[in-house]
Amino acid sequence: MSMMQAARLHEIGGRFVVDQIPVPTPGPHDVLVKVAASGIIPNLKNVTTHFPEWYPFLPLPQLPAIFGLDTAGTGAAVGCAVTAFAPGDRVYVNPGIGCGECGHCREGDAPRCQAYTFMGYFGFGAGSQQVFKRYPYAGYGEYMTAHGNNLVRLPDCLSFAQATRFGYLGTAYAAIRKSALRPSQSVLILGASGTLGVGAALLALAFGASRVIVAARDRQALERLQAIDPKRVIAVPIGEQSIHQQVRALLPDGVDVMLDTLGAKAPTELSVDAMQAVTRGGRIVQIGGVAGPIPIDPHPFMCAQLQYIGSLWFSTREGEEMASMVESGILDLSHLEARAYALEQLNEALDDIQAQGNGFTNFHILHR
Ligand SMILES: [Zn+2]
Repeated sequence: MSMMQAARLHEIGGRFVVDQIPVPTPGPHDVLVKVAASGIIPNLKNVTTHFPEWYPFLPLPQLPAIFGLDTAGTGAAVGCAVTAFAPGDRVYVNPGIGCGECGHCREGDAPRCQAYTFMGYFGFGAGSQQVFKRYPYAGYGEYMTAHGNNLVRLPDCLSFAQATRFGYLGTAYAAIRKSALRPSQSVLILGASGTLGVGAALLALAFGASRVIVAARDRQALERLQAIDPKRVIAVPIGEQSIHQQVRALLPDGVDVMLDTLGAKAPTELSVDAMQAVTRGGRIVQIGGVAGPIPIDPHPFMCAQLQYIGSLWFSTREGEEMASMVESGILDLSHLEARAYALEQLNEALDDIQAQGNGFTNFHILHR
């Protein structure tokens, strides 16, 4: 085992090529993971095609580069300083990593680090290239290295394929924690039919929300969401009537929490509309990245004591909490269906997810 296959991007806008490269050696604090499955996400094609132009402040790894976010597999070797993991352990790799030395990193809050970087995806700052140099491997290779602090141990009932969904789920998980949602409170999920939205609905139910109001255009997806828990999930179709009027017809005081999962291409007006459904003292958490700006009128915002919160990804500790929720049955991932591709089919899979992707289907690469 000295060489491995890895699908690499050689040029921006290009297709992935399966290359033979050496298997990496883990550093003292790292684990070498034999990759079983890695997620395929609708945004990856945008990242590898348009990001340098759209978001020049979000650096990509130097090419040729291995991509592949949300990876799960088995520990193959551990560095000399690793004590919490051993070869054979089933793990999810949280791809988010910071510099490891700033105040936020020391506090375990890497998403706030100036150098925060997703291994196998893109970074958020000038320090990201250094992180890419230390961790240039990712899920579209047969092996990858990751710091032990980035690994989430998987219970046996949680499959590698299901774990590739952890990025979206964790994003919603961290947002719900920041929203301080209490059991018995209500949540509005804007864009509930998407990959982020479906996960947010499952987690809102798991957190004990009394009402999970799901807003989306796709009527079929809304029916599917309602079928998960017909008593607590309420559909609000986007289209003819405004979102906030529909919500206030159900809950005259408004919802306690609004999770905005709309992506960059969605109309901003929907976000503005949905924000008016939030009750006094309520929280709005932004996790979708709809292309703003969004107008906020300070006086009513102040008087109603509303909060607008941004949330990015999730900590490895939060990943462990989700794994524990799956193990205990609190979080039910059986509503998601798996669609697997071989590594050689990666380019095809990236085309398919753009054409056929929906919030319930979990596209991923399954290594042999
Ligand atoms: Zn840092």
